[in-house]
Amino acid sequence: MPLDRMIEKAYDLVEKRRVELIGDGMYNVVGDHGTYTVAQKIDGTVDCNCPGFARRGKCSHSLAVMMLNQPSLLKSVRREISRASDRAETERARM
Ligand SMILES: [Zn+2]
Repeated sequence: MPLDRMIEKAYDLVEKRRVELIGDGMYNVVGDHGTYTVAQKIDGTVDCNCPGFARRGKCSHSLAVMMLNQPSLLKSVRREISRASDRAETERARM
């Protein structure tokens, strides 16, 4: 999955409230293929128990938790995504 797509997916998880705090730095994330547990460590790094994270060290679930904890990051992603959809609409209007 390209990074852009992953960021979009993570943003979607946050917006749809599919990220739930279940305990001390522990989150339940309801993904498309199952519910995963994301743990945020003291140093701010995140860990997810999904197969994608095990393979690549990153995934949309852990990104979603990072966004949830960094409002400025969430804001800039929101801006990027609305800009991208504006562009898509302009292109559609031209056709
Ligand atoms: Zn994951």
